[in-house]
Amino acid sequence: ITEKMLVRALKGGKNTKIVTLSGKKITKMPSSLDKLPGLKTLNLQNNRISKVCSEISTLTQLTVLNLGNNLLEEIPEEMKYLTSLKKLHLFGNKICKFASGACDGLQNLILLNLNNNELAWIPQEISRLKNLKYLSINHNQLASIPKELCFLKNLFELHLNYNQLICIPEEIKFLKELQKLLLVRNNIEVLPKGICRLKNLRILDIAGNIIQTFPSGFQNLKLREFYCEGNPLFLKEPVTAVQQDDVWSLQEITSRFIMNELSEKNPFVMQAITWHPLVKNIMSQRRKCAICGKYFLTIWLECVEFVPPSKKWKISRNLQLVPLQILICSYTCFNQRGPNLFGIAQV
Ligand SMILES: [Zn+2]
Repeated sequence: ITEKMLVRALKGGKNTKIVTLSGKKITKMPSSLDKLPGLKTLNLQNNRISKVCSEISTLTQLTVLNLGNNLLEEIPEEMKYLTSLKKLHLFGNKICKFASGACDGLQNLILLNLNNNELAWIPQEISRLKNLKYLSINHNQLASIPKELCFLKNLFELHLNYNQLICIPEEIKFLKELQKLLLVRNNIEVLPKGICRLKNLRILDIAGNIIQTFPSGFQNLKLREFYCEGNPLFLKEPVTAVQQDDVWSLQEITSRFIMNELSEKNPFVMQAITWHPLVKNIMSQRRKCAICGKYFLTIWLECVEFVPPSKKWKISRNLQLVPLQILICSYTCFNQRGPNLFGIAQV
């Protein structure tokens, strides 16, 4: 039946530009597609197709392919032959496999819609989709995204709602063009510091995660809309608590000494460190005290500073103050803190 319908399309001859066969209960992609080398748009949504046919490789002029709401289980490598493709709709399938080779030829792809599938991972080769602007992977089973995804320097919108993400790579900072980032209903505990460097970010939705504080610098984002309902954000409810000073380990004492000598460019320590790559590696984990500016390694006080959200942000109702994570090296510094800085107490 499909073939018959396609024959009708073929009456338009080799110059047929658009084929629409949506909602026709088709189970197989028409193999006579290879007779339509000039095809620009192929719309096969709302059918029962379970496999992308090999003839697809002849459609090198195709710019739009809609296979949404079918029964596909895989994005096959053959997709790489669609070198003119700009928009690829694969929403509402059962896709759990994304062949990394598929990314090789899709150099012109601008939009990729993978909503409502069963993907648990994305190949790192996604970074080859150099022109991608819109990527939507809502309602899948992603536990992580590869850092390579952050090398898509033209990406404008990234939708990752309803997955199982526990973190976002620090490399997110490389998505310089990103304007819209949607992370609703995941299991994210901490946003990376890199997010503060997304100068073009205007819409951020992190509703329904398990975030308690934001990285410092977050308050300077030029957002227009920011939604964060359904997170256990720290609230400004001061209580008095006992200051229980930790006993520093020898490693902490020594490393603090070395790190601070290094920051003061002590020539002897600077030279010595080059002979000890392991030590250098440990030192790279260092953090900086928000009060005195000195470095520490494994012992610190986690504090929170409350700042009012920017008046330019359109925000969720629950957000009165933005809690920012602040790390402090010792109680000596803690006792010199400003009035908006608090320790975190378990109550
Ligand atoms: Zn300090």
